[in-house]
Amino acid sequence: MRPPSVDALARSVTDTGLPHPLLVDCARQAIAAGDPDSVRARATELAGHLLGPVVNATGVLLHTNMGRAPRRVGPSDEGPLRYSNLEIDITTGDRGSRQAGLGHLLARLTGAEAAIVVNNCAAAVTLVLAALAAGTRVPVSRGELVEIGGGFRIPEVMAQSGARLVEVGTTNRTRRSDYEAALDPGDPSTVVLKIHPSNYRIQGFTEEATISELAGLAPDLVVDLGSGLVDRNCQWLDGPPPGWLGDEPGVRQTLAAGADIVTFSGDKLFGGPQAGIIVGRADLVDRCARHPLMRAFRPGGLVMEALQETTLAYLRRDGDSIPFWRTATIDAAELRRRARDLGVGDVIDTEATPGAGSLPLAVIPSAGIALSGDVTAQLRRSVPPIVARVVEGRTVLDLRTVDPADDEVIARVAAEHGWFPGSAASGRAPVRD
Ligand SMILES: *Cc1c(COP(=O)(O)O)cnc(C)c1O
Repeated sequence: MRPPSVDALARSVTDTGLPHPLLVDCARQAIAAGDPDSVRARATELAGHLLGPVVNATGVLLHTNMGRAPRRVGPSDEGPLRYSNLEIDITTGDRGSRQAGLGHLLARLTGAEAAIVVNNCAAAVTLVLAALAAGTRVPVSRGELVEIGGGFRIPEVMAQSGARLVEVGTTNRTRRSDYEAALDPGDPSTVVLKIHPSNYRIQGFTEEATISELAGLAPDLVVDLGSGLVDRNCQWLDGPPPGWLGDEPGVRQTLAAGADIVTFSGDKLFGGPQAGIIVGRADLVDRCARHPLMRAFRPGGLVMEALQETTLAYLRRDGDSIPFWRTATIDAAELRRRARDLGVGDVIDTEATPGAGSLPLAVIPSAGIALSGDVTAQLRRSVPPIVARVVEGRTVLDLRTVDPADDEVIARVAAEHGWFPGSAASGRAPVRD
């Protein structure tokens, strides 16, 4: 009898609720083990490692394995009491790791061997350097000694981690040979660090060493990508990658080009909750996981569950359920239609931006309405508050970032103030900002 196809085997266990790529993994492993029927046990075990609700009938009120204090689900205080399987292995009943299930998903998504999650990317960089490079010389390009908003400065973070910064090259040009010259056989480096200039661009007479040129120079190449586009091909979208992504590097491509570790934020282009994600070689991720700082940097169950949801959406190729990607890819024509339907102010074309210091030059064609004068203070006083911008003396509301359900909030506030098209408060000629 012919063995069943991987695809048919994967489809036989879709009721486990796992995304297809993970079911395919289980099917391959089952066939490789010569036991196709084991696909269900494998999928069930994998699903058991994901975070979700459990009924705590132990009588232990603060059960560390089940997320300590329970919470109510939903806005009302009548929602069900909720513990979770944060640190219990549902298959064996033993103490489990809060990182195991999500780490597996993130590794699968990015093509890494392993992954762990901390509170933000600043913590991720600090932990990686402390675990892999404390006391050693770490070459970094002078063009990449960045400050991220809020006082995250690479030289200071490196000092905190115990790594010794060695500046390499110049602000605008750094080559592989500059890194080579900075390596000292008498005081060896374990890590070369490359940092993605998320929030600025150096243009003109420039040169930088590529990931593949830097791979292998030192035992470990660490790349801090920050903004963290998962995959340049954006396979979670129905259409092609949006043009405004430009040459933004993908986590998957950076690992494939030879990075041993990549760090990125959960709440920039990944579109999830605030978190820092460390992906890469299993031995290195494991050293990070066992470092004492890990305990201080690990996120709580709420964040882990929210990040799991985002990661599963990518694996299901369901970009529309990731609010950032839904917002970023709405057709400008649809926004223009909504702006017209509002019947408030003037309908205008606008330019939205990704923000959060990512893709500083990117412009997303968008649309919205313009009201004459600066009425931002009145807008902020509405319930809920509306935050808008002033462009060339007019107040501009960009609808790309407004949920369609909130259009009525804008309409109501405008009606209260009498901001109708052509009214005294409304501007005349449409502007481009
Ligand atoms: C944004 C960013 C950080 C900091 O990330 P947080 O999640 O805000 O801590 C670090 N490095 C790079 C390259 C970044 O773009």
